[in-house]
Amino acid sequence: MSLDLKSLVRTIPDYPKKGILFRDITTLIEHPGGFKESVERIAAAHRGQGITHVAGIEARGFIFGAGVAIALSVGFIPIRKKGKLPGETIGQNYALEYGVDTIEIHADVIGAHDKVLLVDDLIATGGTAIAAVGLLRRTGATVAGAAFVIDLPDLGGADRLRAEQVTVQSLIEFDGH
Ligand code: AMP
Repeated sequence: MSLDLKSLVRTIPDYPKKGILFRDITTLIEHPGGFKESVERIAAAHRGQGITHVAGIEARGFIFGAGVAIALSVGFIPIRKKGKLPGETIGQNYALEYGVDTIEIHADVIGAHDKVLLVDDLIATGGTAIAAVGLLRRTGATVAGAAFVIDLPDLGGADRLRAEQVTVQSLIEFDGH
């Protein structure tokens, strides 16, 4: 476990729009050691905590979250964009720069006896992750923590999550936006 994960993330300026530095994890997951080590480091920080499920946020959170669930030998919960899940759902709205979005999980998937680790590729403002924590907590489940491959600390999302009493792990930080 000694790879420089940060060097495996590619930065693409002005995507998806001008002024954004897009942190592209496809180069990290294409690297066999990089993908495995990212998943293993998240799993290693959460072993022995009684976690019952990993929840991953669509779409890049599915990639890392599924790996972490396998590494921890627990089930995986997809947190999906509105209208994608076939069963009865519960949803949570959250604000975007322009407008609102909704994430959903199946209504009957977890409850008060469950302890869930939230996983996504990147935390920026924290809007998506805070909505996900709210959604998981509404089921009665405990959120054991939230893990991200990348944190953009200047955008304050990890601090916002900590203010909601969520333990936050990130593997890499990038300054700025
Ligand atoms: P936020 O809700 O602001 O924390 O945004 C987090 C979500 O947006 C994550 O699912 C990321 O995949 C994506 N995202 C936000 N900013 C970036 C960025 N600079 N590069 C890549 N993905 C980003």
